[in-house]
Amino acid sequence: MQQYEVVIIGGGPAGLTAGLYTSRYGLNTLLIERGMYGGQIINASKVENYPGFPQGISGIDLGQIFFEQATRFGLKTFTSEVTGFKISDDQFIISTYEDEFSARSVIIASGSNYRKLNVPGEEKLVGRGVSYCATCDGFLFKQKDVAVIGGGDTAITDALELSQHCHKVYVIHRRNELRAAQVLQRAAMSIPNIEFVWNSIVWKIEGEERVSCLQIRNIKTDEIIELGVEGVFIAVGFIPNSELFKKFVNIDEMGNIITDDLMRTSVPGIFAAGDIRRNSARQVATAVGDGATAGKSIFSFLKSG
Ligand code: NAP
Repeated sequence: MQQYEVVIIGGGPAGLTAGLYTSRYGLNTLLIERGMYGGQIINASKVENYPGFPQGISGIDLGQIFFEQATRFGLKTFTSEVTGFKISDDQFIISTYEDEFSARSVIIASGSNYRKLNVPGEEKLVGRGVSYCATCDGFLFKQKDVAVIGGGDTAITDALELSQHCHKVYVIHRRNELRAAQVLQRAAMSIPNIEFVWNSIVWKIEGEERVSCLQIRNIKTDEIIELGVEGVFIAVGFIPNSELFKKFVNIDEMGNIITDDLMRTSVPGIFAAGDIRRNSARQVATAVGDGATAGKSIFSFLKSG
């Protein structure tokens, strides 16, 4: 089994920044990521609120820059899914499909996954009109009518992006006001081919081979209407990837890992950073800050132990 001083689980902005810090401290660090480096930002066509890029930057490019900078200082990376986690004496054992690693300390930066609507038709039609990523799949719906579900920053960013190449974009939201930032709201409301459907939830996604229409229920009147769309972009938030760790560290009722200001969890040697953390602002800038704090804290922890 390969041994490290630090194993970081997750290669988004938090994990890569933590790896940058621990590597620069000279700690032998392995970062494990199951997909592309960059985390959720790889789905963002343009990141405009991360300082240093006044014209904005694509999420894929930003993730690549984070990766290059972190690995320049000796961070080792391994692409696989973490499938097991346990504590054995004073070591943490991290399993993947291919290998097992032990570490004196761990940073959990595994982020979160798309929340599903759990309505009829959703699972059956994923990839056939149902999508969780407008940046990835939006181009497939040129000149088509589509719907975006949700009222947060992701939903409205998605609607703005889709409005550029789709014929019509319905934004279906369960309340009559949006949660998204004012600047996004104002932009979306000024675009003629974005139409808001308020106080409404998706009741059913219909289609045989591909999505053909949505049944939408107005929660004030109980009226059900049919909306003909070929694409449905679900943007109703995220669920933290904390399943493997929840029997060890304290989590909140939503599954977010509870940390103190130094990113320490309830178990000495286990740290958490980024979106998986309770009260995370879920921004690239704050994830980077969490990662830097976790890197510094882990250095103090290992040098004192
Ligand atoms: P979010 O802020 O949690 O918003 C989720 C939206 O989905 C809310 O409007 C919520 O409605 C709705 N919703 C939740 N469950 C639902 C369900 N079962 N059925 C129907 N609607 C449901 O998630 P997010 O928009 O993905 O944003 C996550 C974080 O990332 C936020 O902190 C956000 O600021 C950040 N983010 C930032 C940017 C940016 O800065 N450009 C872009 C994307 C994301 P209610 O409002 O009624 O609760």
